[in-house]
Amino acid sequence: MKNLTRRSFLQNLGIAAGSATVAATLPSFICNTKMYDGKKLNIALCGLGRYAGYLAEGLQETQFCKLAGIVTGTPSKAVEWKKKYNIPDKNIYNYKNLDEIINNKDIDLVYVVLPNAMHKEFTIRAAKAGKHIIVEKPMAITESDCKEMITACKNAGVQLAVGYRLHYEPYNMEMKRLGQEKVFGQVRLIEASLGYKSGDPSEWRLNKALAGGGPLMNLGVYCVQSNRYVLGEEPISVTAQFGPVTNKKLFAEVEESITWQLVFPGGAVGTSTSTYNCSIDRFFASAENGFFELSPAISYGPFKGRTSNGELNFPVTNQQAVQCDEIAKVILANKQLPEHISGEEGRKDMKILQAIYEAARTGRKISLV
Ligand code: NAD
Repeated sequence: MKNLTRRSFLQNLGIAAGSATVAATLPSFICNTKMYDGKKLNIALCGLGRYAGYLAEGLQETQFCKLAGIVTGTPSKAVEWKKKYNIPDKNIYNYKNLDEIINNKDIDLVYVVLPNAMHKEFTIRAAKAGKHIIVEKPMAITESDCKEMITACKNAGVQLAVGYRLHYEPYNMEMKRLGQEKVFGQVRLIEASLGYKSGDPSEWRLNKALAGGGPLMNLGVYCVQSNRYVLGEEPISVTAQFGPVTNKKLFAEVEESITWQLVFPGGAVGTSTSTYNCSIDRFFASAENGFFELSPAISYGPFKGRTSNGELNFPVTNQQAVQCDEIAKVILANKQLPEHISGEEGRKDMKILQAIYEAARTGRKISLV
C-alpha cells in the first residue's frame, strides 16, 4: 500500500474539513484540516538525491511550507527541478554560491539532505547566511561536529532541527506514550532493529569519510532514538559487538552489521542490531504487565502494531509532510523548537553512537554518564 497523504487519508474516510469527531481521535499533529493562507515557511532543499525527492513530494502536501528553492551540484538537476516544482532562477544555488542565499529574503530555511559528513559544513554555512536549518539524520558524524553546528546556529540566531520524521508519526508516538506513561508498567526490555541488504559498491554509505560509519550511523540512529523516547531516559552504559564480515569488498571501510545493548537508569535494557546484510524493521517492548510492538516500525510505512491488548490502528500519514508542517508552525510562530526535534537531540544520539562504536572496538562496557 502506498503512503496516503494527510488530505487523501481524510478524504478516503469521507471526513469533512474540521470534523470534531475525527479531530478527537487523531493525534493533534495530523488534525490541521482547516486551510491556511498566511505566510508560509519557504524551504530550500540542499542536495537533490533520493530522500530530497521524498521531501519535495511531501512538501507539496504541506499547508505551512513551500518548496521555494534548491541547492545542487548537478546543473541538470537544477533544470529538472526548476521545471517540476516551478522554482525561480533566483532561488537556485550550487554548493559554491550557497552563501549568497544570505541576500535572498524569499528563503527562510535550508533543509540539508546531503551525505552525513557534509551536514556540518552546510548547516554552518546556512546558519551564517541567517537561515533556519533542518538537517537530516544522522545529524553529523561526531558529537563534536554536532556541538559546532549547535553553536553556529545559536550565534546566528537561527533554529536547528533534525529530520526525525518519526516524532510526528502516530504509531511511533503511541509507542512513546505507552512507554513513558507506563501503560503496561515499567518497560524491562526493548528490541529495536533496522536493516536492509546493501549491494551497490559505489554507494556513499559504504564510504567511511562520507558516511561516518556503516548501518549504525544510517539505521542504528533510529533504534537509539526509539529506545530513548519510549523510555524517556538517557542510557547509562553500552556494550556492543561487530557482526561478521561476509562481503569483504563491500565492507572494506564500514561495518556490515553491529549489535549493542544499552542499559537505562530505570533498569530497562535495549538490544538492537543495525545491518546492511539482511532486512529487519521492528520495535518490541516488554513491560511488567504486557508488551507493545511495531513491525514495520521505522521505514516509510505503512506501519503495523499491536499491544498485549490487541491491534493498533492509526492513520497512515505522509511523514515528510507532517514533519515539515509541524516544524514550520513553530518557526512561523517565532517560538523555540521543542528539544525532541532539536540539534541537542541529534547531539545526544551521536554521543551514544560513538560510544557504541567504542564498545564494539574495545570489547569493553562504555559508561555514558
Ligand atoms: P543520495 O545518495 O540519494 O543523495 C545524496 C545527494 O548528495 C545527491 O544529490 C548527491 O548528488 C549529493 N552529493 C553531494 N556531494 C556528494 C558526494 N561527495 N558524494 C555523494 N553524494 C553527494 O542520499 P539520500 O538517501 O538522499 O541521503 C541523504 C541524507 O538524507 C543522508 O544524511 C541520509 O541519512 C538522509 N536520509 C534520511 C531519511 C529519512 O527517512 N529521514 C531517508 C533517507 C536518507
